[in-house]
Amino acid sequence: MRTLKDIEIDGKRVFIRCDFNVPKDEFGNITDDRRIRSALQTIRYCIDRNCKVILASHYERPEPGKYEEKYSLKPVAKRLNTLLKIKNDFYMAEDVVGPDAKEKAAKLQGGDVLLLENLRYEAGETENDEAFAKELASFADIYVNDAFGACHRKHASIYAIAAEFDKEHKAAGFLMSKEVNFFGRVLESPIRPFVAVVGGSKVSGKLQALTRLLDKVDKVIIGGGMAFTFLKAQGYEIGNSLVEDDLLDEARAIMEKAHSLGVKFYLPVDFVVAPEFSENTAVKYIPSQEIPVGWMGLDTGPASSRLFREVLNDAQTIIWNGPMGVYEMDKFSKGSIMMSHHIAETHATTIVGGGDTADVAARAGDVDEMTFVSTGGGASLKLIEGIKLPGLEALEK
Ligand code: AMP
Repeated sequence: MRTLKDIEIDGKRVFIRCDFNVPKDEFGNITDDRRIRSALQTIRYCIDRNCKVILASHYERPEPGKYEEKYSLKPVAKRLNTLLKIKNDFYMAEDVVGPDAKEKAAKLQGGDVLLLENLRYEAGETENDEAFAKELASFADIYVNDAFGACHRKHASIYAIAAEFDKEHKAAGFLMSKEVNFFGRVLESPIRPFVAVVGGSKVSGKLQALTRLLDKVDKVIIGGGMAFTFLKAQGYEIGNSLVEDDLLDEARAIMEKAHSLGVKFYLPVDFVVAPEFSENTAVKYIPSQEIPVGWMGLDTGPASSRLFREVLNDAQTIIWNGPMGVYEMDKFSKGSIMMSHHIAETHATTIVGGGDTADVAARAGDVDEMTFVSTGGGASLKLIEGIKLPGLEALEK
């Protein structure tokens, strides 16, 4: 992969596609600025080389053509400015490719930074529209893609725009190359035992990743809502727990494949169950084969936590994607928090992927103990699935 340091950028106009899609609370405050901090290395590198830096990102899913304030990147601009602490000028455009963005871009001096408004305010972004991509490209001499969290999407600022630059004028940013190389190295030559911990709501979203992981890992731990599809496939009562009935055969096939490959496959042995999906409800701990009719499993129980700890004990490499329960509610967060602690306590190389999973690790206070916390959930799953990311493909073309 060609990175920024392989191309000549000194003094040039550089367009950097970032992923500033950060979580905010109900007051509009940024609650986790990891994605902004992770982009600083690439941005500073360009500033230090006297480039005119144009930054662009999407933020959530606004209705195209409607400039709703809640989707504005203004809070990101503020935080970025604070973190960058540059002596040069920092501008925020009021539009994406409109008159304000163009006027401010034309004013830039070497070392200045301009952040465009939310790319998804323009319909052309998600449509991968060529004309829109050309307008974006006209801002710069160099295109840099550092938006790992978005590079599994074929959008204009990720895909179509790259066709406007030849190989000497486009490259991956440092965050992108770090993410891709890390996953690549771990999946190609992991130190064993290699354990995958997979949770989250559904089997469907992670079916391909799970199937591919079976060829690579020594053990799999399943948690979260997806565990119930596997338990039902084994014929157990799962009450009203989340289940995908159309995937029972696939679930059986996965378990059979694991068995035939000699991959150890662990499901939760107990659950925290409740009669309804609510924080203000009575809960009980129950063995996984005794879920009462009408109740639902919302977290893995203490016996599962102890079992998983044993399973992780000798691990040398761990990939973790997906929470063990409905961790957003305190009552059902223990299984996920305990999993985070157990993973952090090992001596393994630990990779955490996915926004929810990174959030669990942060709530558990374990982020510093993990080897690598990925900024991209969907993109990291695609890497595990062995799928070429459109953003990377476009850079190589
Ligand atoms: P995913 O996006 O597939 O990684 O799923 C993350 C979501 O799964 C989180 O929002 C959790 O609340 C949810 N989840 C985890 N365990 C369960 C469960 N037992 N029942 C319902 N939802 C769950």
